[in-house]
Amino acid sequence: MRYISTRGSAPTLDFEGATLAGLAADGGLYVPEAWPTLSRGEIGALAGLSYAETAARIMAPFVGDAIGREELRALCEQAYGRFSHAAVTPLVQLDHRHWLLELFHGPTLAFKDVALQLLGLFFERFLADRHTHLTIVGATSGDTGSAAIDAVAGREKIDIFMLHPAGRVSEVQRRQMTSVLAPNIHNIAIDGSFDDAQALVKRMFAHQSFAGRFSLSAVNSINWARLMAQVVYYFYAAVRLGAPSQEIAFSVPTGNFGDVFAGYVAAKMGLPVKRLIVATNVNDILHRALSAGDYSVGTVTPTAAPSMDIQVSSNFERLLFDLHGRDGAALSQTMRGFEASRTLAIPAAMRGEAATLFASARIDADAMSQAMRWAHERAAQLIDPHSAIGLAAARAADLPAEVPVVTLATAHPAKFGDAVERATGLRAPMPSRLAGLFDRSERYATLPAELEAIEAYVAERAKPNAVPA
Ligand SMILES: *Cc1c(COP(=O)(O)O)cnc(C)c1O
Repeated sequence: MRYISTRGSAPTLDFEGATLAGLAADGGLYVPEAWPTLSRGEIGALAGLSYAETAARIMAPFVGDAIGREELRALCEQAYGRFSHAAVTPLVQLDHRHWLLELFHGPTLAFKDVALQLLGLFFERFLADRHTHLTIVGATSGDTGSAAIDAVAGREKIDIFMLHPAGRVSEVQRRQMTSVLAPNIHNIAIDGSFDDAQALVKRMFAHQSFAGRFSLSAVNSINWARLMAQVVYYFYAAVRLGAPSQEIAFSVPTGNFGDVFAGYVAAKMGLPVKRLIVATNVNDILHRALSAGDYSVGTVTPTAAPSMDIQVSSNFERLLFDLHGRDGAALSQTMRGFEASRTLAIPAAMRGEAATLFASARIDADAMSQAMRWAHERAAQLIDPHSAIGLAAARAADLPAEVPVVTLATAHPAKFGDAVERATGLRAPMPSRLAGLFDRSERYATLPAELEAIEAYVAERAKPNAVPA
């Protein structure tokens, strides 16, 4: 499989190249040259397979020759063996039509582990026979950071620099990152929002004299391999609910549009997805874009679901690419306009095309709390604020009664204990893998949200490109 940039002018890469690069050199994002498809028979044959085997089958066409089939399966078994539930991503039934897909049984208790545990192994595998030291630079609204750090801690050929907005991640989230003391882990709290952090990372990649000194790579969901790994659980869940004979709807708590884009890829591959519900909190740029064509940047309002406190959704560009008929030059022009004016009007025809699959909802704090209480009262489930936003949108969606609706449960309720307690009066017990978190010592730097300061910090600590032997 070859990968092309959404902006049309970066070099075409294979899976290994796209994984190591993260962001494309022209500022775009890598996408497969074409969407592979599975026949109904192939989808039906996924029934009863383990998660790791399902993952290997779904990812094989994207990975191509970069990793052999047996090795790919072994890597999946290694990555998903670290999950604390034998089903890896179990389905929980809430009532006669609503289901939760629990994606939080990995080491850091959010769905980011599903992709990042595997990505850490891909990096190690690809670096093994190269004279390259990888410098990963990322921005996190909380969960990506801890999942990425867990996935690469102690790996010899990788350093990771993770920027988080100071004071805007939960204490559990911060400690999960800053208590990892391996020497290749570098946490930076910046004085700004998540969008500021993400913009700084993008600028570092675009700053060629800086980027050229290091092999910079990305673990944010701009990295194609992450989205690929997330496609798997859409198939895994849908097959258990009757696909390919049964259509399934998914409701996805959305921030950067990565998780829900993976659902779009599953649909492109032939999974009968009736609807993808993009659930946002009051930071609703995606809801405005999909419902009214108004993709314009507002200011970020901090909420109880901080991993969705985002205005610019990087992966939305991947959908826009398809909506532009995969014309990289045209999209490049659109994105330049957006970057200059911070606003983009999506033409009605494109919006109509998106609406054949996507619906959206904006869920405020009251509706979120109500969904938490509903899940607890009706189904004895404590759910976290992000999952509650998904569930509220799922319950409000206009769908045929016979279609099962799966809400992606993206974080463990113990990760956001205060918010869960405010809504339900109850605290979810902290899983044993996080025992002692509040007693561990922390290490991180605090820096202003300025490119020069961040680059200087990275340059002092990262290992420059090795000279090829
Ligand atoms: C990252 C995250 C989201 C948003 O996912 P995107 O892929 O950025 O849309 C939702 N919920 C939780 C708990 C997350 O960590």
